[in-house]
Amino acid sequence: MGIPDCVGEMKLLTKGKFLKDVARNWKDTYFRVPYLSAKSISSWYDKEKKNIYDNLLKAKTEKEIDEIIGNNSWTYLHCFECDKEVEALILLNGVMEKAYNNGYCGDCIAKAFKLLKGK
Ligand SMILES: [Zn+2]
Repeated sequence: MGIPDCVGEMKLLTKGKFLKDVARNWKDTYFRVPYLSAKSISSWYDKEKKNIYDNLLKAKTEKEIDEIIGNNSWTYLHCFECDKEVEALILLNGVMEKAYNNGYCGDCIAKAFKLLKGK
């Protein structure tokens, strides 16, 4: 039996994958799914959130995504340590790709390695 994917697995999150997941992440954030009450139904927070989602599904570039949402907060991939905008991050310890704000750039990973080596 293998170790579950979510435990202790280091992952690479590229800008391309990050952009590809914006629509799904938007839906995860703004689409309510009922939990216990059978009477409640799934629904969007409001019509605007649904319209944005529909447009995000058609978006092809970072610029299009930013224009649809109205800012770059959903496409801004940056390192949790140095705060630089980057093209790729390493997510440590099985952090989910949605929680990209816990990712580290190559430069910071290299610095960490030097610290470990006492240099
Ligand atoms: Zn960094």
